[in-house]
Amino acid sequence: MNFVSKELLKKQNIIKGFFDYREYAVNEEQFQIYSYFESSFLDLYGDYADLFNIKNCCFYIKDDPRCNAFAIKEEGYNIIGITNGYAINISKMMDKKHFESIVLAGINDDKLLKEAYIDLHHDKEFDFSKFFIDCSIKFTFNHEFQHIMQYNSSKFGKNNFHFQENYKKCDFDIQRHVREFDADRMGSFELLKYVFRVHANLKVKSDAKLKCLLYIGCSSMIITNYLFYLEVINQSETPLAVRKKEFYTKKYSHPHQLVRCINIMEYYFDNITNDLSRLKITPQELLNNTFKVAKLYFDSLLPGHDNISALFSDLNKHIDTINEYNGELYDLAIQDKAIRNLLLSRNIQFDDIHSVNGTNLNK
Ligand SMILES: [Zn+2]
Repeated sequence: MNFVSKELLKKQNIIKGFFDYREYAVNEEQFQIYSYFESSFLDLYGDYADLFNIKNCCFYIKDDPRCNAFAIKEEGYNIIGITNGYAINISKMMDKKHFESIVLAGINDDKLLKEAYIDLHHDKEFDFSKFFIDCSIKFTFNHEFQHIMQYNSSKFGKNNFHFQENYKKCDFDIQRHVREFDADRMGSFELLKYVFRVHANLKVKSDAKLKCLLYIGCSSMIITNYLFYLEVINQSETPLAVRKKEFYTKKYSHPHQLVRCINIMEYYFDNITNDLSRLKITPQELLNNTFKVAKLYFDSLLPGHDNISALFSDLNKHIDTINEYNGELYDLAIQDKAIRNLLLSRNIQFDDIHSVNGTNLNK
């Protein structure tokens, strides 16, 4: 597919703050990071735009040191972007050194799972840190792409829209929360498909390895959300200072990270149950194993804090409110004409069971 030229959109002032890393990257390492993120997003956008017949697309990196991604519909152009801070901060947070002990996630588990983690650890063609970054990119891209799909669905017509991922303390709008809820679910579903494909491409495959990858994939979404919840994602000084965002429901531009974590995990679990039922993963297993991986990561990133126990206790404290609010967002999502059209066009069932039906993970 052909992308619209960035030069043209810059001239029309539709693209603002364009970051040309070929000019600004301060060293070879940064150049490689920007170029990796750019080509990953371009490849994904090209494929999905073809698949869903989206025209007039453009991707660019915006000059902003804070970690952010966005989707814009302006003058008929469909623009997805990330900030230079997204590429740099995600790479920094997901540095190899924080994944050295991930192999221990299987240590107290059954023999097959333990061996599967060890095999992945020794597999020269598999790299935990790269897999985490790729999962994070897939989730973020598909979240933003779902906003593009929402814009192009009937309800929005020809109006301009702009969604950015950093939450803003702007006036609350429940429709906005509903669209974020929907975009998170699609990000979670497409990430699951990606994990399945990564496993399919391994030379030696097994259900235990697929389980490991599913747990790591899920933990990549939880870790990313938690980095924002703890407000450490944009910090450059170590030691990182943890500042939690206070819990809320009907406030601000985006649902609270705890609400988003539960939504993402629930939809991930629903789709595993539907499409990979032979694995017989229970909600408890998914939760425990996802958090085991997240704990090993956070023990390295923020030593001296028991971050995952704190996350469990925060979730426990608010779980009834979270479930109730996610239920409300779900009901509003399936009443929203734009979202309803998109669910129907993707053959996703939504009335009584909240999950995908008839979807083939090999696609
Ligand atoms: Zn969003």
